[in-house]
Amino acid sequence: MSRLAILGGEPVRTKPWPEWPDGREEDVAAVAEVVRSGKWWSYVGEHTGEFEGEFAAYHEARHGVAVNSGTTALQVGLEALGVGPGDEVIVPAYTFQATATSVILAKAVPVFADVEAETMNIDLKSAASVITARTKAIVPVHLAGLPVDMGRLREMMAPRGIAILEDAAQAHGAVWRGRKVGALGEAGAFSFQASKNLCAGEGGAIVTNDDDIAARAAGLRDCGRVEGRPFYEHHLPGYNFRMTEMQSALLRSRMRHLEAETQERWENGRRLTEELSGLAGVAPLDPTPGDGDRRAYHLYPVQLRSEDLGGITRERFMEALRAEGIPCTAGYGRPLYRNPVFQNHSFGPKGCPISCRHYSGSVDYRSVSCPTAEKLCQEVVWLLHNLLLGRPEDIADIARAFEKVTAGCGELAGQAR
Ligand SMILES: *Cc1c(COP(=O)(O)O)cnc(C)c1O
Repeated sequence: MSRLAILGGEPVRTKPWPEWPDGREEDVAAVAEVVRSGKWWSYVGEHTGEFEGEFAAYHEARHGVAVNSGTTALQVGLEALGVGPGDEVIVPAYTFQATATSVILAKAVPVFADVEAETMNIDLKSAASVITARTKAIVPVHLAGLPVDMGRLREMMAPRGIAILEDAAQAHGAVWRGRKVGALGEAGAFSFQASKNLCAGEGGAIVTNDDDIAARAAGLRDCGRVEGRPFYEHHLPGYNFRMTEMQSALLRSRMRHLEAETQERWENGRRLTEELSGLAGVAPLDPTPGDGDRRAYHLYPVQLRSEDLGGITRERFMEALRAEGIPCTAGYGRPLYRNPVFQNHSFGPKGCPISCRHYSGSVDYRSVSCPTAEKLCQEVVWLLHNLLLGRPEDIADIARAFEKVTAGCGELAGQAR
């Protein structure tokens, strides 16, 4: 095995990776056209309405409601489901903060469930163990684009009247048993922030098959207005979470490539898992897909087993991998409940929604413990999705770099001491 690049050897790869986001000339033209037209606002242009229809259709949903971020999509989605003071909402502990803080923003109480070691998705046994009479909804996250088992989840939640809001911010185009994610529960929330697989810098959307949820979400997003009623007639204390026409035009332009890119990442992701299989110390968190499933890799997660890697730290392993020309990151450094907002119960001067006369339960986030989430936060390495937009040779480079670094780990661990 050749010398590790971090110790002065030749790197496996020096060629750059595809950029993300990768603005094309057609994207520039789409935005420029809106800017020139002066129709920057969704009330005067057609792009936002068209985008909502196109995005909902792609996700096999009746309705799409465009908003300004994934965070506001979650908040509006929860409020449109009727979540509010006194309610509990179950969320996984290994995810982006918005999955849980959106519950606080909707004036309800997030309750953490642990995740599964093989999928990093919400562990349904753990979720079942935290259900109470106050549980109003659950937010399963299709983490890293891997669809949650929506069949089992529905079976568990439907008889108890618990609504499902899918957090699909990392799962544009993901398919579960032949059906696109997003509207498999009551509603779903997507993000179009710059890193996401469909992006416009910022943006979000709610999708649903339910007419009432869609109407409530549209009103909350737009100053409490009701479709068909006068412009200055307001029915709720709504937000202004509207999307601009520039964003919508950009998203429509980029949507033309979403399906092909999702398929390309899927084929490359499965190829990488095959190429990494059998490598000691390195475990792709990429379970064998069920019939009719398609993961929409937003991240490609790999778990390191330090004991099989000469005791090397994750940080050192990543440095060695980067030196070989493979960019990577450690991802979420702690389970959500370990963030100061939860540890300090920093929910505002009166402590609502936890200290609230409508809330009959009690939570102390300092005593929450989700051991699998804790472990994943220590051991997982993420490769970002743009690495999967290459050719089979590029995937082979990733595999060769992992092989080289795992083989050189003993030397590296010794050298560090
Ligand atoms: C990105 C993300 C969000 C939030 O989306 P923003 O557009 O950044 O507000 C929510 N949940 C998950 C799982 C995410 O990855």
